[in-house]
Amino acid sequence: MKKFVKSLLMGALILSLSVSAMAKDKIFVGTNAEFPPFEYLDKGEVTGFDIELVNELGKVMDADVKVLDMSFDGLLPALQMKKVDLVIAGMTATEERKKTVSFTQPYYTASQVIIVKEGNNSIKSFDDLKGKKVAVMLGFTGDTIVSEIEGVSIERFNAAYAGIMALQADKVEAVVLDSEPAKNYVKQNPGLVLAEADAEQEEYAIALRKNDKALLEKVEKALAEIKANGTYDALIKKYFN
Ligand code: GLN
Repeated sequence: MKKFVKSLLMGALILSLSVSAMAKDKIFVGTNAEFPPFEYLDKGEVTGFDIELVNELGKVMDADVKVLDMSFDGLLPALQMKKVDLVIAGMTATEERKKTVSFTQPYYTASQVIIVKEGNNSIKSFDDLKGKKVAVMLGFTGDTIVSEIEGVSIERFNAAYAGIMALQADKVEAVVLDSEPAKNYVKQNPGLVLAEADAEQEEYAIALRKNDKALLEKVEKALAEIKANGTYDALIKKYFN
């Protein structure tokens, strides 16, 4: 009888151990779904290049990925407060941000471009923004770049579409934004074009807490794997061709 109870208990122990071994790691990911084609809402669902990318990374890491949508300037604070473990949001790995967070290897090279109304030929470079009213998004790299131009009058918005609306209503003369979302907005808004100006390049990367070294290593490995096995290329083709 004793033996029977013992083996029953052993069985229960093995069962509970294997159940907990089956439970996948959960990785909470912060994004700001106002940045097509990297992240946007489609019928209420967050989707886009970054979201598919992070889901593929989750598969390689055998982890459950849970995406949380929040404001762009709330992303790094949410990371620090452990509300999320990763941030993927078309976020540029800037020196300033590197002071507080770690970044993975870059996964996309972008640039800042200028959007104007069709027929506006007065802006051919970032220097031409001098003396003009220019829309930027609060805390984006475009904000940093335009803020360095002397004599520019900056209007800061919380989301790109708000800047686009201001341009259409002639409240500003130009919008400075990342290249891919800018192309997207121009495509969807007849009458808007990209100014032909040289742009500075920047690199998007995934942000993590500085002390989360083990997770950084896992994500780097997964990123290298999906770059090597064609998954990454397929996503690039899907979103940028
Ligand atoms: N690449 C820009 C930045 O990092 C904009 C990112 C975004 O709006 N999602 O500031």
